[in-house]
This record gives sequence, structure tokens and C-alpha cells, in this order.
Amino acid sequence: MNDTVIPAPTPTTLPVAGDSARFPVRRVFCVGRNYAAHAREMGADTREPPFFFTKPADALVPTPASIAYPRATQDLHHEIELVVAIGKGGADIATEDALSHVWGYGVGLDLTRRDLQAGFKAKAHPWDMAKAFDQSAPISPLVPAAKIGHPDKGVIALSINGVEKQRGDLADLIWSIPETIAALSRFVALAPGDLIFTGTPEGVGPVRHGDKLLGKVEGVGELQLDVR
Ligand code: MN
Repeated sequence: MNDTVIPAPTPTTLPVAGDSARFPVRRVFCVGRNYAAHAREMGADTREPPFFFTKPADALVPTPASIAYPRATQDLHHEIELVVAIGKGGADIATEDALSHVWGYGVGLDLTRRDLQAGFKAKAHPWDMAKAFDQSAPISPLVPAAKIGHPDKGVIALSINGVEKQRGDLADLIWSIPETIAALSRFVALAPGDLIFTGTPEGVGPVRHGDKLLGKVEGVGELQLDVR
């Protein structure tokens, strides 16, 4: 691309564990609530259909990393999540075919300006500036399903400065990974390079200056993030 009127943005790519080749990212989708105990802690119904929001691909931060505390919030929250990396696109994907569209998995943080989100919810305004800000999506190296399979159970947890804050199990997802992919593909045609943050278990809470975050999903990997 050598004929652009301003410099073209660099495509976002993510490291792949054990491979020099990288995963090219197209879009980042996120599930709003997907663990019953977290839905309850946010004051929500636990049986409503999944809903989705997005973050820009350049909000991703490959980890381990150190980031500055984000601007425009006094109440940054952590949400540890299993991330699905789509390798094969499609619309109206059947639940039973959904895993064949998955290239691999990662461990992600859906960083959230909870104070702004609460205000937007109260006014029925969009969540974007609470969710889709710069560096709002730290993520581990991705691992191919060809290597680890398709996790449907296992611990998902986050600790801060060595103290555990969130702990759940992938088996407790309200909407399973195949159901989530099928549901999202009814709203948009999924494409290779799309990521899906699949929701967080209970225990969300504040991140402060100087915190060291360690997230884990059993069988998938680890995420290390320092917040300056
Ligand atoms: Mn989330």
C-alpha cells in the first residue's frame, strides 16, 4: 500500500506461543455478561440472551507488559476472560459447527472504566468510551487449538499483587463457546482474525497505580500486566 494520502495504520498482530508467525487481528468482539455470579454482582438477569460490544483492534496490548493508568477514569476495573481467535469466517454458524471456526485461544483482560460505564447505563448511552479505550485489551500470546484442543472447563482466575480477586471455571459459562460464536454470527459475518472476549467471572474490582496483575486460564496460558 504505497499510495495513501496519510501514512496507513499498521495492522495489529499478536504473538503466537511457540511460533515466530503472528496472528493478524481484524475485529475484537466482547460478550457483556457470561457467568451467572458476575451478572448477579452487576445487578443483571442471568438468563437473558448474550449481548455484544466491541473494542478496536489497536486497543490490544500484547503481554507481559506495563501500561499507564488510563485517562478519564477514577475506577478502572479488571475483567479476566478467555479469548477465542477465529480462523475461519462465516455467518449464521450452527452451534455444532462453531468450533471448526476457531483457530485458537488466549487470556485477555477487558479493562473497564466502571465509573463511566455506570453513568452511561443510567442514561442508556453507549458503553464505548467505558470499554473501547486505548490499551483496554491486554492479551496473552495466543495458542492454537491444534495444540491445546477446545477448553470447556478449567480454572479462570486473576490475582493482583499476589492476592486472588477473581476465580471461576469455564464450565460455568452461561453461553458456551460454540453458543457464543453461533449467536454472534447471527449479528455479523465473522471473519478470520476476529477475536471474541467471552465474559468474566465474579470478583471484578478496581485496579490501582502500581498493581501487578496475573491472569490465568487453565490449559490456555497466563497474562502479566503492570499498571503504572
Ligand atoms: Mn467483559
